[in-house]
Amino acid sequence: MVDPTSDLGEDVTEADAPRCSACDRPIVHSPSHRVLTWVEDDHVQSAHFCDEDCRADWDGR
Ligand SMILES: [Zn+2]
Repeated sequence: MVDPTSDLGEDVTEADAPRCSACDRPIVHSPSHRVLTWVEDDHVQSAHFCDEDCRADWDGR
């Protein structure tokens, strides 16, 4: 059920939700969602994480 008053402004289903780069789970309306972006070979890369723990886990590799 989509809440039309949602201030997230996202209408994301699991199918097109970004996946966590650490645990590979779809990230849907997660308030702890983290996005990391960086530039690699002149392209902007991004990685999504469900929370800070996953981000820290991925970063450590
Ligand atoms: Zn995760």
